[in-house]
Amino acid sequence: MYIQDQLQEIKAHIAAAEQRAGRPAGSVKLLAVSKTFPVEDIMQAYNDGQRLFGENRLQEAMSKIPAMPADCEWHLIGPLQRNKVRKALEQGFGLLQAVDSLRLAEAISRIAGELGCTARILLEVNVDGEASKHGFTPAEVQELWPQLTTLPQLEICGLMCIPAPTEDPEGARPAFRSLRTLAETLRTRGPLPLPELSMGMSHDYAVAVEEGATIVRVGSAIFGKRDYAAH
Ligand SMILES: *Cc1c(COP(=O)(O)O)cnc(C)c1O
Repeated sequence: MYIQDQLQEIKAHIAAAEQRAGRPAGSVKLLAVSKTFPVEDIMQAYNDGQRLFGENRLQEAMSKIPAMPADCEWHLIGPLQRNKVRKALEQGFGLLQAVDSLRLAEAISRIAGELGCTARILLEVNVDGEASKHGFTPAEVQELWPQLTTLPQLEICGLMCIPAPTEDPEGARPAFRSLRTLAETLRTRGPLPLPELSMGMSHDYAVAVEEGATIVRVGSAIFGKRDYAAH
């Protein structure tokens, strides 16, 4: 019951935040981040109507996806190594959310071409300049935009960010706002509509919705505390 109660509560919070921000109801997709949690837990969310799930490690995703009903959509939200691109594309993720370099984007486009598909991706942007983080800086995205947008087998659907953790959810607001502003700038440059902004996690998703998130990535608030030691 725990998981289903949490899901209901989070959906209510998302709806309230949409309303506060004057956004239409249903503007935001809830991505249930199931990393480290077993298939039984994911099935509980499924039985409550959840269909969109996120995993951050390819290997783990590949063991869980075949164990779940086929009408789930899966997003890869963790870093992808170039030598794993083929496996990731063959797995058929709905969205690769953490594309963090031009070289990776080029590899995805090339291999998608070999497989006869188009890869849907988000560009991960390091909006708060944290040194240890993955992602393009906003300046890099701007500079590489012509190259990124002409990769033939890539559909860049939007941007994602993982800001540095802050005690207070409000602490992430400037980062969320920067990501939205960057997307607005890129839209004016064309040629892409860039509909998706993936931002906000368990403790700050409501703030992210207020700032324009279209996908929030929520793990522990749905499934409980993660036990990394068990994996
Ligand atoms: C684990 C993870 C999340 C979910 O984090 P919670 O704080 O458990 O909601 C979101 N995004 C990414 C990229 C993650 O790796």
